[in-house]
Amino acid sequence: MTQNLTLFTGIKELVTMAGAAAKDGRRVSDDDMGVIKNGAFLVEKGRLVWTGRESAVPRDLKKRIKKTLDLKAEAVVPGFVECHTHLVFAGDRAAEFEERNRGVTYQEIAARGGGILTTMKAVRAASKAQLLKLAQKRADVFVQQGVTTLEAKTGYALNEKDEIKTLQVHKLIEGPRIVSTFLGAHAIPPEFKTPDEYLKFLTSLLPKIAKQKLAERVDIFIEKGFFSVESAKPFLKLARELGFEVVIHADQLSLSGGTDLAVEIGAHSADHVIQLDETAIRRLAQSSTTAVALPAADLYMRCAYPPSRKLLDEGGRVALATDFNPGSSPTQSLSLVGLLARLEMKMTLPEVWTGLTYSAACALNLQKDVGSLEPGKCADFAVLSEDWRSLFYSIGHHPVVQTWREGRRLF
Ligand SMILES: [Zn+2]
Repeated sequence: MTQNLTLFTGIKELVTMAGAAAKDGRRVSDDDMGVIKNGAFLVEKGRLVWTGRESAVPRDLKKRIKKTLDLKAEAVVPGFVECHTHLVFAGDRAAEFEERNRGVTYQEIAARGGGILTTMKAVRAASKAQLLKLAQKRADVFVQQGVTTLEAKTGYALNEKDEIKTLQVHKLIEGPRIVSTFLGAHAIPPEFKTPDEYLKFLTSLLPKIAKQKLAERVDIFIEKGFFSVESAKPFLKLARELGFEVVIHADQLSLSGGTDLAVEIGAHSADHVIQLDETAIRRLAQSSTTAVALPAADLYMRCAYPPSRKLLDEGGRVALATDFNPGSSPTQSLSLVGLLARLEMKMTLPEVWTGLTYSAACALNLQKDVGSLEPGKCADFAVLSEDWRSLFYSIGHHPVVQTWREGRRLF
């Protein structure tokens, strides 16, 4: 008999989220947190082979234990899944933030070459090593909050050389599992006159990115003045054919049909989803597409919050993420996101937990591997020094003392 199992013990409450996973992230209630008191779990080659009460480790598995680790934890929870960030950028937009607070509009700033173009210039000017250093620091900040899976989008270079450079940076980040998304269709760079002209160029880039395996997903910003549903359709269709998963920045500023398109083509997530009418809410809730709410961006933009409560009541699945970026959401705080979800979108605490774990995993199509602590899934978890019920209550408070990915300690 090979002794190759690691037993983790000393867990006052093991929060498995198994109920939320069994319900596929929909209509989650208090019981679905899947809490096991005095819990323990067994790990083999980075995967969970058993979870349960410390006193109930099966005899046949007991014989195979090589090592026992006492976590001395108030709680162990699934590693958080951060499913929407613009992680790789250079420079900041603090000066523009101050200008906006003094009454200069976003449009005025954009018209004189500010906004996304400010970041674009900084990203194009930065070396790969410089970008990696910045991105790694930010990834570490997420890991310190218990994040084990981290999505990252391009979209600040808007040319071939530097979009590829950004994608390469995604591959070099250490620690969390990185999901790389190509968001060339984030804005229209000054080199192109129309969205369609630029999209044609991006279309020519997709096969190269696919060939080099630099991204798993393709994203597009559908909005008036950016990209339309009509032009997004063939672009996303090609992305699909090349083996990418597709996601959409949808209906943030106006009801532009992005959410309906996401549902129609079976996108894994529709992100922002603020300006939805009743029909769009119902259609999204009843689809397999995960709604990704980004309330920190809504706070910074001082706009409306997504109708998460309605989506959830209609049986929808709602994930939560920071939308971390230098313009509209310069924060990496999961505690702020969770708090806003509770305060502004009336999500319950189990819904917030689900939104940052299982449902976020669904948004990334990784729900078979991460998002809950169940046999067969990755041993991705965070160790808390406080009761899990105390999270998403006090802004900036993260009682995470250890973060593990696939049975390996990251923090
Ligand atoms: Zn975004």
